[in-house]
Amino acid sequence: MIHRLKYGNTNCFVIDGNNGCLMIDTDMPGTLNGLYRSLKEHEIAFKDIRFLVATHFHPDHIGLVSELMSKGIRLILLEEQIPFVHYADRIFERDGNISYEPIKEDTAMIVSCSKSRELLTALGFDGEIIYTPSHSMDSISLIMDDGTCFAGDLEPIEYLEAYENNELKNDWDKIMEHNPRKVYFSHRNEIIFG
Ligand SMILES: [Zn+2]
Repeated sequence: MIHRLKYGNTNCFVIDGNNGCLMIDTDMPGTLNGLYRSLKEHEIAFKDIRFLVATHFHPDHIGLVSELMSKGIRLILLEEQIPFVHYADRIFERDGNISYEPIKEDTAMIVSCSKSRELLTALGFDGEIIYTPSHSMDSISLIMDDGTCFAGDLEPIEYLEAYENNELKNDWDKIMEHNPRKVYFSHRNEIIFG
């Protein structure tokens, strides 16, 4: 089951696994109450969310990561993302946003994209994480074996017709190899294939 939670400007997702739920992205710092409300609307117990992954570390995707980690939710951090974990720190600092604590990446579950299937299987999810860096160098997509894909801020496939963008094409080629049926985005409506 896929839940789309919107408690700000970013679509965040929760998917069910065999040992608890995985959350994909969070909104900005200070939106925890919004998250709680949204979970209630979707009849998801907070304690059932056990894992978290960020499609990338832009501010509007990771604002609650450190808070959720401090509440026991484990972050799945891709090796490809490590250099970018603190990208938003100075942005939040400049904004004077006191509710933000930097992410403690040493307590995350660190894995490479190529080993992500093994980790996800162990955690109770059938799928894998693929590296799709056209939006930002730390961007990943999560693609489940049922064809559900979470692509974050990846630009839609139709853009490939409008202009030449080899990086975007590479990312979409990788996603299409996995036969997606439905692709969810952070800031636009999902697209359905077939
Ligand atoms: Zn972004």
